[in-house]
Amino acid sequence: MSAALRIGMDIGGSKTAAVALDDAGTVVAATELGTVRGDDGVVDTAESAIVALATQTGVAPSGFASVGIGIPGQVDRGLGVVRNAYNIGVARLPLAQRLSARTGLAVSLDNDVTAAAIGAAHLMRLSGTVAYLNLGTGLSAGFVVDGVPLRGAHGVAGEIGHLAVDPRERPCPCGQRGCLETVASGSALRTYWPAGGDHPGRVLLSAIAAGDAEARAAYDALVAGAASCVRLLVLALDPHTVVIGGGLRLLGAPLVDGIRGELDLAAATSPFLTELELSARVQVLPADSSAAAVGAALAGNL
Ligand SMILES: [Zn+2]
Repeated sequence: MSAALRIGMDIGGSKTAAVALDDAGTVVAATELGTVRGDDGVVDTAESAIVALATQTGVAPSGFASVGIGIPGQVDRGLGVVRNAYNIGVARLPLAQRLSARTGLAVSLDNDVTAAAIGAAHLMRLSGTVAYLNLGTGLSAGFVVDGVPLRGAHGVAGEIGHLAVDPRERPCPCGQRGCLETVASGSALRTYWPAGGDHPGRVLLSAIAAGDAEARAAYDALVAGAASCVRLLVLALDPHTVVIGGGLRLLGAPLVDGIRGELDLAAATSPFLTELELSARVQVLPADSSAAAVGAALAGNL
C-alpha cells in the first residue's frame, strides 16, 4: 500500500513537471507534460499529471496523501490562490480549491522559487541556511533555514530581481529602471544579445567560442549581475550555501566558475569580502533534478 505517496508539481510557462515522493522523500515516479495556459488549462494540466502518476505508481488518483504545487506569480497559501501568473495565462485562480474539488485531494500552493529552494536543500542534502538563486527568464531567490522555508510576511521574500541598481539602465516591466533582473536573467540575455534568439542560454557559449563580441558582453553582464546577487544574498542572510538554479544553470561549469571568479576578483581588494568566503558558498543545482516539483511535494507541511 502506497497511500503515503505525496505529489509535487512545478507548473511552468511551457511545461509541468510532477513527481511522487515516498515517506522518505525519495522520488518514486516522475512525469512531464506541456502546460495548457489559462485557468481551465492549468487545472486540467495538474489533473492530467496526477492521473499519469497514478498510472505509474498503481495508486488510485484519489489515493495520494497530498498535492503540493509550485507556481509562478503571487501565491496566497492560506487561500490557495495564485495571482498575476501571466506566463501561464492566469490573473487570479483559486487553484487549490478547484483541483481539490476535482480530485478529492488536499492541495497546497507555493511560489515556484520557494519550492525549488526547498527541493534543492533536500536533494543536495544541504543543512543550515540555504539561499537559492533562480537564474531563469526572471531573477529571484528562495530561502530555507534549517529545513523550513522563509517566505516573509507577504510572500515577497527573495524578490531581489527588482532591486534597482542603476537608474540610468533599461526599464523593467515592474515600472522601475535598472533592476537586477534587467541585467542578470534569461530575458536580459535576450535584450543584450538579440542574435541569440528565444533561448540564448543554449547557444551562448558556442557563440562566445566563435568570437561573438556581443555574446561575450551579454555573458559578462550576466556573470557580474549574478555575482552581485550572491553578495546581496550573503550580506542579507549569511547563508551556508548559495545554490545557482533556474534555466541558465544549464550553462554549467563556465557560469559557476565565472561567478566564483567575479567574487574572488572583488574579494582580492577587500579584506571584508575575503572574510566572507563568498565563492566557497556557491554551488550549482544538478542539471537533471526536478527541484521545484520535489520541494512542492515537501512544502505542504513546512
Ligand atoms: Zn523590476
